[in-house]
Amino acid sequence: MNAFAVDLHIHSCLSPCGEDDMTPCNIAGLGFLNGLKIMALTDHNTAKNCPAFFAACREYGIVPVPGMELTTAEDVHMVCLFPELETALAFDKLVEERRMKIRNKPAIFGEQVIMGEGDTPIGNDPWFLPAATSLSIEEGAELVRSMGGVCYPAHIDREANGLLAMLGFFPEKPVFTLAEVHDEDKRDLAVGRKILVSSDAHRLWEISDGSFCVHLDVEPEAGEEAIRKALFAMLEKRS
Ligand SMILES: [Zn+2]
Ligand SMILES: [Zn+2]
Repeated sequence: MNAFAVDLHIHSCLSPCGEDDMTPCNIAGLGFLNGLKIMALTDHNTAKNCPAFFAACREYGIVPVPGMELTTAEDVHMVCLFPELETALAFDKLVEERRMKIRNKPAIFGEQVIMGEGDTPIGNDPWFLPAATSLSIEEGAELVRSMGGVCYPAHIDREANGLLAMLGFFPEKPVFTLAEVHDEDKRDLAVGRKILVSSDAHRLWEISDGSFCVHLDVEPEAGEEAIRKALFAMLEKRS
């Protein structure tokens, strides 16, 4: 087993609440400086900055994980991660059809900038991204799993859109074997589930300092695909 410093919950400038300098290249560069080995991009209800994020991570030797922070119909945030970029983009398309179309107000909520490689802006999403989708927790989890991804409740130690704050408990279905906390000392809230400590960074300085590691059955030099595969094997493991 080898330790890999990870941050699996990061927002880019495509999330309205993500600062403008949260560009794919800046995120990867900061992650590199902080010693991170694996980073996931998880914008609200979109994966459209993941292709540029992949390109940026490869420049810095970081293993990118494509993802999304899904807002369920119950207004609960779930982190959804995929082993391949293509699957994350296919999931993005399905979620797009289930999003509520409320126009974004950039002056109030912030811009939602889609980035191309090398931090070149290539578009804007006109609809307010974090709004609830019509996917329930159960439906969302089922969809992610049917596509080979993993999903788990985000920041269960937070009031805003945390599963425990919204529902008060872990539902019987779907079965979550993982849970994310923002503060490691709140790990007891997960009652026996595997814990992931992630930054939920919306600003560059919020990106994890590299202190949280996962232990994977793969060599650090094994290459991006092998490391991502080992990460998903760990995330999917039931115990
Ligand atoms: Zn959230
Ligand atoms: Zn988030």
